[in-house]
Amino acid sequence: MATGALDANIDEVGYRAHGHHWGYRFFNGTLEGIDRANRAIIIAPLRDKDGNEIIARHRIRYDYLVLAYGSVTNDFGTPGVRENCTFLDSHAQADRFRHRLLDQCLRVSRMMTRGSAREAHVRVAIVGAGATGVEPGAELYNAAEALGHYGLEVFDRPRLKLH
Ligand SMILES: Cc1cc2nc3c(=O)[nH]c(=O)nc-3n(C[C@H](O)[C@H](O)[C@H](O)COP(=O)(O)OP(=O)(O)OC[C@H]3O[C@@H](n4cnc5c(N)ncnc54)[C@H](O)[C@@H]3O)c2cc1C
Repeated sequence: MATGALDANIDEVGYRAHGHHWGYRFFNGTLEGIDRANRAIIIAPLRDKDGNEIIARHRIRYDYLVLAYGSVTNDFGTPGVRENCTFLDSHAQADRFRHRLLDQCLRVSRMMTRGSAREAHVRVAIVGAGATGVEPGAELYNAAEALGHYGLEVFDRPRLKLH
């Protein structure tokens, strides 16, 4: 999603429809607490974007409870990472990265059209060269190549500098 290789509107899973298809029920909400004695989880009030309550705090009973609340990226204490990097843990962060990337590509493309772009590049630094870092690296080159088909008539692969 960060590079535009996937379109979230097409590729993401809608849990309500998925649940209907596979026979489970889906409740959206934030886990606020666990009442182990009574085998129930407590779900925080669900609010709309304006802060109005849609569903009040409530409980859901369970027989067995599996907690799977994921993780966030570890910066391993690398100086500057937390303050300066775009992380890719969430949909919103991936969107933000993609917009910034496209804006910069557009800027460089515009400069190329005007003939003032000898040194203009899109420079991306990826911190962390494990599988998760290498994959967007490769995808970014694919994206740079594809941009020509999506409105940026002058932009080419060497304009992308990856570190
Ligand atoms: C950039 C990136 C690329 C990746 N690429 C791949 C890949 O190509 N292939 C692959 O196999 N894996 C990939 N991974 C790893 C994979 O995404 C994770 O291993 C996987 O999503 C973990 O699943 P999970 O269900 O444990 O946690 P998550 O997917 O993180 O889900 C946890 C959910 O719990 C929710 N949650 C947290 N706290 C609460 C709470 N209190 N109440 C309610 N909900 C809560 C979170 O909002 C989240 O929706 C990638 C990860 C990243 C960051």
